[in-house]
Amino acid sequence: SSTASRSHVPADLESFLSSPKKMLINGQWVNSKSGKKFDVYDPATDQVIAQVAEGDREDINAAVSAARAAFDSGPWSRMTASERSRLIWKVGELIESNADELAQLETLDNGKPLAVAKAADVALAADMFRYMAGWATKIEGNTISLNVPYSPGSEFHAYTLKEPVGVVGQIIPWNFPLLMAAWKLGPALATGCTIVLKPAEQTPLSAIRLGELITEAGIPEGVVNIVTGFGETAGAALASHDDVDKVAFTGSTEVGKLIIHAAAGNLKKVTLELGGKSPNVIYDDADIDTAVAGAADAIFFNQGQVCSAGSRLYVQRGIYDEVVAGVSEIATNMKLGSGFDPDTQMGPLVSREQFERVSGYLRAGMTEGAEAAAGGAVVDRAGYFVQPTVLKNASPEMSIVREEIFGPVVAAMPFDNDREIATQANDSTYGLAAGIWTRDISKAHRLARTVKAGTVWINCYSIFDAALPFGGYKQSGWGREMGHAALENYLQTKSVCVKL
Ligand code: NAD
Repeated sequence: SSTASRSHVPADLESFLSSPKKMLINGQWVNSKSGKKFDVYDPATDQVIAQVAEGDREDINAAVSAARAAFDSGPWSRMTASERSRLIWKVGELIESNADELAQLETLDNGKPLAVAKAADVALAADMFRYMAGWATKIEGNTISLNVPYSPGSEFHAYTLKEPVGVVGQIIPWNFPLLMAAWKLGPALATGCTIVLKPAEQTPLSAIRLGELITEAGIPEGVVNIVTGFGETAGAALASHDDVDKVAFTGSTEVGKLIIHAAAGNLKKVTLELGGKSPNVIYDDADIDTAVAGAADAIFFNQGQVCSAGSRLYVQRGIYDEVVAGVSEIATNMKLGSGFDPDTQMGPLVSREQFERVSGYLRAGMTEGAEAAAGGAVVDRAGYFVQPTVLKNASPEMSIVREEIFGPVVAAMPFDNDREIATQANDSTYGLAAGIWTRDISKAHRLARTVKAGTVWINCYSIFDAALPFGGYKQSGWGREMGHAALENYLQTKSVCVKL
């Protein structure tokens, strides 16, 4: 494999990148058992920036054993909830005090603009640990009064215990590498589970740095294990492992279905946060300037690599041309470049593979009869840059309307009335999010109830908060992340019934 060339890397990252990138198993930083490593690329330059240990089944086995030992008899299960809370909070604080370095790592590895990495990825990740630290001391069962018909006159005392589900496998994607780790680790730690985390092979660096911070915070060895490697090998070994009690996955719907199959062996619990093709609906009574800016942000944020991106733009017919022109103007004027350039508004896509996939959709869109009102092509420079694109003349059967592109490409379609838009908005196998822009509150809430989506944003888009549950209807997934709802994924309910 090629050697790392880091001439373009910020000096602050040199010391982190120059040490060998190993895996965290049972509190030790180790090479893969096979000794193999894989290359990690800077998407803005197509150059190798690091080599990372390539974990596989043997490494997953070691990590699961460590997590099992830490769960069954280790310090984590003996620790009070209050002490656990303090350590989880500390992880949040360490993320904050290392925010600049983490943001730089994210920009280097994923490509996103540095200001976004800092204000969104890193800040939200720190907040997620703090939010979940608060829940650690508030996990409670209920007392339940019984009325048992076949035991007349008997009195019972019944209650539920909430117990951690056990050893959890967590597999995350590359679009928000640190934040997805935080979404996964936060609730698992708060409930007292132990974890084997597999970051995406495209973006393993911030998870490795997070592992260092977790160790520094004093989370005991074996509680959080991090195995870097590929999906078909390390990921599949984790999803199918018989001693893993639950698997939590974020990524494509296609792989989500493989996870369900893999989990069937020992019937481990499964939660999935999958793809989307979210409708963003602009009524003609909306504040048009706000809606246009919001629609652009809904699709172009994070280079469009957001599972909840507003990728189907429905505009009421009377304002369709004006909105398409407005979003197109924003697209055309967007400054593309390295995420380290302070003027950059959009960085490269994450990988060559993703670049090929998105450009394939652009070609398919044109072939199927859509027309680019803005963009429509890749950018002729090093790195994986694609023009922010607005496609008009899009129709419901086109692949660019049906399939998740996961790039800066929006398909714009007109609609006429309320009944029609509800049907159109729901015409998808996905159901992750939806946007609604109008000044009419009744109309907004009515559509919010009708649309089959886990999150509905009204007069805003892409608003995330550690307290606000997030997840999918239909083929966008099982379960919810964030908020109190996320804890349920990591808890078992035990009913205890006593005859008095
Ligand atoms: P992916 O689903 O292949 O990868 C996500 C994670 O799953 C990675 O960590 C990967 O290593 C792992 N993985 C892959 N195959 C696996 C397997 N067989 N068993 C266990 N783990 C496995 O996603 P991708 O190929 O990187 O991206 C493909 C498409 O997925 C994108 O174009 C986009 O549509 C979608 N995607 C969605 C999200 C999301 O947040 N919903 C995130 C990333 C990608």
